[in-house]
Amino acid sequence: MTPRRQWLATAVLTGVLPVLATAVLAGLTLGADWGWAVAALGWLFVILVQLRELSNLAAWLDAPDSREPANVRGFCSELVRRLGRRLRDDSRKLAQAEAGLHSFREAMDAVPDGLVIIDTQHRIQWSNRAAAVHLGICLPRDGGAIIEQLVRAPGFAEYLGNPDVNAPFVVQSPAVRTRYYAVRVVSLGEHSQLLVSLDISDARRVESMRSTFVANVSHELRTPLTVVSGFLEHFADDDTMTAEQRQHFTRLMSDQTTRMLSLVDDLLTLSRLESEDAPASEEEVEMDDLLAQLLAEAHSLSEGRHRLELICDGQALQGNRKELHSAFGNLVSNAIRYTPAGGDIRIEWRIREGLGAFCVRDSGVGIPAEHLPRLTERFYRVDRGRSRDSGGTGLGLAIVKHILLRHQATLVVESQVGKGSSFRAEFPGWRLKAVG
Ligand code: ADP
Repeated sequence: MTPRRQWLATAVLTGVLPVLATAVLAGLTLGADWGWAVAALGWLFVILVQLRELSNLAAWLDAPDSREPANVRGFCSELVRRLGRRLRDDSRKLAQAEAGLHSFREAMDAVPDGLVIIDTQHRIQWSNRAAAVHLGICLPRDGGAIIEQLVRAPGFAEYLGNPDVNAPFVVQSPAVRTRYYAVRVVSLGEHSQLLVSLDISDARRVESMRSTFVANVSHELRTPLTVVSGFLEHFADDDTMTAEQRQHFTRLMSDQTTRMLSLVDDLLTLSRLESEDAPASEEEVEMDDLLAQLLAEAHSLSEGRHRLELICDGQALQGNRKELHSAFGNLVSNAIRYTPAGGDIRIEWRIREGLGAFCVRDSGVGIPAEHLPRLTERFYRVDRGRSRDSGGTGLGLAIVKHILLRHQATLVVESQVGKGSSFRAEFPGWRLKAVG
């Protein structure tokens, strides 16, 4: 039986038939008038009861939160049951749709790119969380606002009017001025557009570092090359030059060539250190042996101009000997180059509070405090002239920093202008090895 017929049958069985049967019985036993009267009263009663049930139903429909169908009896109960089922189905579907929408919103908020949907009048329809950081657009606050009034970068309005698919528009972060975002426009049919913003700050920083680096290297090479080429011209044009003058110029050219070679060597070392995460091999480095070698090199560099001292605790250090030699050698060579004749230099290897500390102390020129945080940047020099005169490439401490990083060590610099400096490399305890 179809639900419709079933409902009709119920209505007839519960509403029509009982009254009809009672009326017929009354008519047969008490007379036709009684029969009609019983029928009229019976159906009036049925109608009143159903009206009350319908008012229950209306009350239940008015209370959207109520989950259970109203307590309705009679032939309306079937209607209520079906209505209840339909409502339950609808609310389950609605809950599913809401959950889907919620996870979609969460997914969109987790996307690192900024997403903004605008309509044909450029009014903001929707945006994700990243758009707040990238473009300063926050919902619900900015819903319906014209996007050009919020993103005030010069040229943005023109770009939106005629977006170029191949060239994104670059905007600066409204909150952090060092961050930049590339904005692309994607059409979403006739009525809306999607703006996608991508964080390009790191790429821009790398690009700017690359061009600064190229400019620095070119500048560093240009100076000695200019000197050498000047001398060569001199050689070619001047026949009257004495053997002594020739020797003098040749020595100057040789100095410049050595400077260029040191620069290229340091650049190659730095590039190798940057391209590999860890040293190719590690061994137990006998520190007394390494420090003795450093002291001998320091003597030859100082040529007797400084008092040199060595303190060694004796424990071995796990690491790459060649790299450690290069890092420690740079610190020792700096101490000698930045300490005037007659000064003191002490090279130490000690175990302090479970850490291995290699330290070079000098009584040299010292470094003003404001320069300390930038010392390990490539080509950063406190005193450009002094560095060049002493044969510095400006890359020594950058190399030290990289080597220490590869050995999980940190560099601690303390200095006082006119009194001297101390450069201390601290190695983690697990790198220390008892000498067997
Ligand atoms: P450079 O080749 O110029 O010495 P480094 O990277 O080794 O380059 O050092 C960077 C700068 O740090 C130097 O130019 C110098 O100004 C300063 N510096 C490094 N070591 C010392 C030191 N022991 N005493 C004073 N200044 C130092």
